[in-house]
Amino acid sequence: MEKGLVSIDRWDEGSQAYFLTHLHADHSKGLSSNWSRGTLFCSSTTAKLLLSKFPTFNVSLIRVLQIGITQILLLRSPTSGSDVRLLVTPIDAHHCPGAVMYLFRGEFGFLLHTGDFRWEMMNERAVVARRTLMDALDGHKLDDLYLDNTYCHPSFSFPTREVASQQVIDIINSNPCHEIVIGICTLGKEDLLLHISLALGIKICVWPERLKTMHLLGFIHNFTTNTSLTRVRAVPRQSLTHETLALLNTLHPTIGILPSGVPWRTSFVEEDQTALNGKIQPENCMHIPPKKINPFIYSVRYSDHSCFLEIHEFVKLVRPLNVTGSVPSSSFYTNPEYYFGHLCGDDQFWDAACREFRNELVENFEGGQSDHILLCQKCFRWKMKTESRRKCIGSRCRKGRVHAIRRRQFGAKIAHYEESGALF
Ligand SMILES: [Zn+2]
Repeated sequence: MEKGLVSIDRWDEGSQAYFLTHLHADHSKGLSSNWSRGTLFCSSTTAKLLLSKFPTFNVSLIRVLQIGITQILLLRSPTSGSDVRLLVTPIDAHHCPGAVMYLFRGEFGFLLHTGDFRWEMMNERAVVARRTLMDALDGHKLDDLYLDNTYCHPSFSFPTREVASQQVIDIINSNPCHEIVIGICTLGKEDLLLHISLALGIKICVWPERLKTMHLLGFIHNFTTNTSLTRVRAVPRQSLTHETLALLNTLHPTIGILPSGVPWRTSFVEEDQTALNGKIQPENCMHIPPKKINPFIYSVRYSDHSCFLEIHEFVKLVRPLNVTGSVPSSSFYTNPEYYFGHLCGDDQFWDAACREFRNELVENFEGGQSDHILLCQKCFRWKMKTESRRKCIGSRCRKGRVHAIRRRQFGAKIAHYEESGALF
């Protein structure tokens, strides 16, 4: 997409339209009550939260987009001055309240910016999001994917939020005489708190600013600021430390719970190796138990970001030509191309799951030359078994593929040949 048309979660560059995926601080840094650069597009929930955070924000600059509904934008090319027609579809990102992904369509092709997202395919909301995305793509390839790569590393595996919520409830139930403090941020984990409230039939105590947010989001009856009404409290995450818990335990037995995708005190090298050995499977992730990281605090793998396997499933679904990580500041930053390059670009011709290759001999009718290929027994996709092609596959070289397709179009025929070991 041409520069100067739209900005997504970036507020310091000149654009004609600005898109906010959600209101977490790392995506809205630069926004303020004085915003005047241009029209800001966001979901209706994010608009409510934005106006609560910045009460004097110029409302006339906010355009609310309905999730799943495509809108047309008419912009002007900064270079040619010609009209630019852009279609944008917001898709539920299932991250925090109001979070959406944006799918853009135009002369440049299809571009998807996920913002932050959780892709739990067993979840009803993700199923709807998947349908919305596939309908909007309408069989077209995704040209550019800007991906939430927060946990784009095999060491990041965790259960669904439903499973993690039950783990939190089990911890609370197994400590019936303890006060419970749960560390959360200013936005997110609402579903977890609500789940605890409904499952245990209690109110959850939150700090005043958080109660305001809960009411804004429509959670009126399950939260309170009165500590005497409940033994479960949500506190700002940064205040839940070993020192705080040690102090609280001098007054009353207290357990701390940190819901997060970050694997506290885990050996990355060890887990990475496990993943590379193919041992991390969805069913195994479901059983990752909470970890007691010190005498007072449990870490539960409750994450609003996708785990590695979910990111993999997502990239496999959309098969973009190009993929870029949207979280360069992550301390665990990994370029998504490193793990998912084989699902992207022109090499999406080769299906990663498609590896049951048999050696076949190809005869070119025109040139009389023969060549060996590896033909998949399942889907009949094929790849050239030559030294040059081997190199090309490694570097995602377009030329090799073009030559292969041309050869096929020119009337190559496949003759049966002896089976031999696959290259991959
Ligand atoms: Zn976020």
